[in-house]
Amino acid sequence: MSRFRQRLSVYLLALVFVWGGTSWLFLMWTQLESEGISLPRKAQRHAGDNMLKEEYRIATGRDDVDNATVVFRGDLPPEPMPNEPDFDVVRQLFNITNAGDGGIAFNLDPQKLPLEEQKKYQLAFRKNAMNEYASNIIGVRRRLRDPRLEGCAERYSSAGLPQTSIIICFVNEAWSTLLRLVHSIHDNTPPHLVKEVILVDDGSSWDFLGKPLDAYMTRFPKVQIVRARRGLGLMVARTLGYNYTTAPVITFLDSHCECFPGWLEPLLTPLATDPKVVTTPCIDGIDKNHFGIGVGPDVMVGVVEFPTLQFGWRIEPPREKKRRNSKLEHVRSPAMAGGLFSITREFFDLLGGFDPGMKIWGGENIEMSFKIWMCGGRIETPICSRVGHVFHSHNSYQGLRSGTFAAGDANNARVAEVWMDDYKKYFNHFSSKVRETRYIPGDVSERQKLRERIGCKAFSWYIENVYPEVALPGDGIYSGEIRNEAFPKLCLDMMTSKEGGHPTMFGCHGQGGAQLFDMTDLGEIVSLNRCLARVHGGVFNQKSNWGSGQHVWDFKDKLIQRNNKCLTVNATRHVVMEKCTGKTSQRWSWNYHRPRRKNVLRIDEI
Ligand code: UDP
Ligand code: MN
Repeated sequence: MSRFRQRLSVYLLALVFVWGGTSWLFLMWTQLESEGISLPRKAQRHAGDNMLKEEYRIATGRDDVDNATVVFRGDLPPEPMPNEPDFDVVRQLFNITNAGDGGIAFNLDPQKLPLEEQKKYQLAFRKNAMNEYASNIIGVRRRLRDPRLEGCAERYSSAGLPQTSIIICFVNEAWSTLLRLVHSIHDNTPPHLVKEVILVDDGSSWDFLGKPLDAYMTRFPKVQIVRARRGLGLMVARTLGYNYTTAPVITFLDSHCECFPGWLEPLLTPLATDPKVVTTPCIDGIDKNHFGIGVGPDVMVGVVEFPTLQFGWRIEPPREKKRRNSKLEHVRSPAMAGGLFSITREFFDLLGGFDPGMKIWGGENIEMSFKIWMCGGRIETPICSRVGHVFHSHNSYQGLRSGTFAAGDANNARVAEVWMDDYKKYFNHFSSKVRETRYIPGDVSERQKLRERIGCKAFSWYIENVYPEVALPGDGIYSGEIRNEAFPKLCLDMMTSKEGGHPTMFGCHGQGGAQLFDMTDLGEIVSLNRCLARVHGGVFNQKSNWGSGQHVWDFKDKLIQRNNKCLTVNATRHVVMEKCTGKTSQRWSWNYHRPRRKNVLRIDEI
């Protein structure tokens, strides 16, 4: 009897749930419709079905998502936004006419604000990981000067270029940064080059990004808003946007960029003649505090760090310096930052787009980079294309970043598994004895099949030809512990705990880490991503500048030397530079590992 009653109540409860769920979905649906929110066409057909795989299938247009690790990013809390600055108050305190005009800094001292406004200022900063309060004062539109090198304006023309679709994914982006981006595209781009701008709302929870955004964007006939009903993560959200594009070239931008005059033509020009070139602009930092746009160096090269598979920037290596014969010649990079790039539809399709098994954020740029090069393309930065980007102050912004880095690690594990062949052992997960769960790649069989289908080159080809300057821990020309003849029980230790610290001699522990040194093909000595650097006659560790060929060494006849100065252990056991005499305290032993790569050029060889 009691069992029956129990069952009855379960049935009743289930009925209530089904009824409640159905009417909730119905209400949601009608509400969305009445708000005029443009649900993706395909999504509308499935609006009653909130199964995540279905959402992915809709977003990616693929049937193979069953095999992918499908992950829902998680809903964001529906918080009200901090209020707009009180412009009357602000106007009395600061000169806010033309704030930020021309891309210059707008400095505002929050201490001078009344308490109420200070609270807004701080809340806005916390929520956006940037000074939204100042950004709001600058407003949704500002003029930007042309910051490019001389000769840029004349070098590129918009005639005969293919059209592009622009995809901008956003999640809880500030109103002023998102709108400034769209205005900057509108103001600084020849209209005939842009077929459409697709804004993909990846599950934002802030109200103003709904109806008010729709209303604002009606002034831009080329802007379409596509909304994911749940947080799909960057890769799948981009793929969703991609399904709405129609132009032969796709350009991706982060939601807090500003495009400088003439930014697009140089990105499209190489693609007009070679569908396998992928172009990235020079990225200038928009300051998170005052929104001044700092024009960065003209030439930077994007690389991948090992064993983390994180993206990094470098000064161009001597090999690339030699290949480029003029200041305005495009610079090639082994990897791209990933937020901002143009690619032909043809090549994007061939490469299989983004990996639908990747979660939230991170790693997709490394996958793209590897496959672009390995499958017959290349990554180029036209020096004359410049786009600003806000680099945020912290990584847990808007609440969605908790778990983001773990997601990035798993995404990277997928990249290693699919693209790196034997070299995957140089990635964290495969190099360490402990298999951490955050590195588990999930099912990658579809991506492996994809690689087979396209028929791409081996990862060793990529290393030898695209990235011979790389520092792979344990794969240097010389590799392992470095011992000194005068102190046979001690090992050279990078002392990485302190940036700019002096390497010292410690008891050999055999655990690798700061006692594992590799000499790169350029002659740099690297341990844990730090270089052994000589500055003013002293020896220091310097953060990850390997690959640029700035601090090169020779290891010959047991001497670690440069310009007749030798690495020496002195009487107090400190590591110093002294004139080479060949005494025992200058004689080192280090394992010989392998011959030098053919395609590398040292700075003294160009
Ligand atoms: N983004 C997204 N869905 C996510 C995470 C990020 O659409 O789940 C968007 C985000 O709004 C931004 C872009 O992806 O426009 C890149 O993210 P972010 O700017 O945080 O990366 P960062 O520039 O810090 O590398
Ligand atoms: Mn960004």
